[in-house]
Amino acid sequence: MTLLFFDGTSEAVEKITHSRYDAVMKKKEELEMAKDYLVKALAYGGYVRAYAVCATDVVAEAQRRHDTWNTATAALGRAIVGSLLLGSTVKGEDKLTVKIQGNGPAGLIMVDANGSGEVKGYIQNPKISLPLNAQGKLDVRGAVGTEGIFTVIKDLGLKEPFSGQTPIVSGELGEDFTYYLAASEQVPSAVGLSVLVDTDDSVRSAGGFMLQIMPGASEEMIAKIENRLQELPKVSTLLDQGKTPEDILDTIFAGESVMILEEMPVEFKCDCSKEKFASAILTLGSKEIQDMIDEDHGAEAVCSFCGNKYFFDEQELTEIKEEITGGAK
Ligand SMILES: [Zn+2]
Repeated sequence: MTLLFFDGTSEAVEKITHSRYDAVMKKKEELEMAKDYLVKALAYGGYVRAYAVCATDVVAEAQRRHDTWNTATAALGRAIVGSLLLGSTVKGEDKLTVKIQGNGPAGLIMVDANGSGEVKGYIQNPKISLPLNAQGKLDVRGAVGTEGIFTVIKDLGLKEPFSGQTPIVSGELGEDFTYYLAASEQVPSAVGLSVLVDTDDSVRSAGGFMLQIMPGASEEMIAKIENRLQELPKVSTLLDQGKTPEDILDTIFAGESVMILEEMPVEFKCDCSKEKFASAILTLGSKEIQDMIDEDHGAEAVCSFCGNKYFFDEQELTEIKEEITGGAK
């Protein structure tokens, strides 16, 4: 017992108890500070809708699950942050998928987000570590590519999902989200996405903002915002300094009143299950399933979004097959 070391005098005990209490409180504060969340706000009397998010833990979990190298971490992380921001504009259970198919080594990047702040992401090639770009930053454009297609599919619970597509215009992704919003949804916007990767490849901070300009906003307003954005440090730097999403909006709208409408936790969450994979195996057809039984005596399914593995033995595969054949051999 460490306490015995202090000879049991009340002063020493008091001291250590106190410092432990402080340490516990500090840890608690740190945890609360590290909590990922998104804020929705209005500025300029409602002419600007503003969203800001801290998604450090979300991107860190994506990094761990996909074991991404630094440039891939930044590319997938920015896509995740952008999708969280875009996803926050749809209602609770409604969801959207962002597909970024560029001509760079990252291949397909795909992110699912919903209106409740849940997100999952996939990158075709997670092992990308490119030399830093001319600005000394992780070369996301180099990983994503400068040509390709940026697609957003929104499932709003209607018969047909909404789908919008724009070309990749930058490959840095913030500009690609901005271009998508302007060209496909006709909303003049500004999107900033930022991921800070540490030298040991872990995620130090990740977050972003999205501003949407409503009809009726004056040129002067827009010019003022543009000027502020020019001067704005990277969001990941602000988050790394301990700033909150609210602080980020205050920094962007310096001197203007910002009305916070909502605060929403965000998390990496995959909705995969063994049942879903069983349905997927079912669609392969009975011949394919029989081959799995005969040749591999089982099947292992790995979720592309989260890396969770599901194993099906011969018995389970036979049962799935019998659902197709109705029990006939
Ligand atoms: Zn999964």
